[in-house]
Amino acid sequence: MDNCIFCKIIKKEIPSNIVYEDNQILAFRDINPVAPVHILVIPKKHIESVIELSKDDEILIGKIYTVINKIAKQENINEKGFRVIVNCGEDGGQEVKHLHFHLLGGKKLGVKICE
Ligand code: 5GP
Ligand code: ZN
Repeated sequence: MDNCIFCKIIKKEIPSNIVYEDNQILAFRDINPVAPVHILVIPKKHIESVIELSKDDEILIGKIYTVINKIAKQENINEKGFRVIVNCGEDGGQEVKHLHFHLLGGKKLGVKICE
């Protein structure tokens, strides 16, 4: 996906602060963090959003949560807790059209998840 910013981050054409990488998944710090820990976990495969997922992606999505588990421990937010958010489409406020999981923590997060 030539003009996808996250595909460029995966290809290291755009620098990012990587916290985890394997052959299928990349995790890096959000450029505009809204919490002390704000990490984006993404599949290396370009999938636009939750709506574009297929049955073939089920194992991959499961692995993303295993990676989130690992990073939460790495970042020391596993005990106090954290939030995982996936925005989808226009109403969901998705800006980057490459599926990503926001991992947020490091402070007591507000109770509102929508407004
Ligand atoms: P969305 O609103 O699509 O769910 O979230 C996109 C996220 O990507 C935002 O939190 C935004 O700060 C982050 N982001 C956008 N461009 C870049 C970038 O070039 N590098 C990094 N590290 N994060 C980015
Ligand atoms: Zn992409």
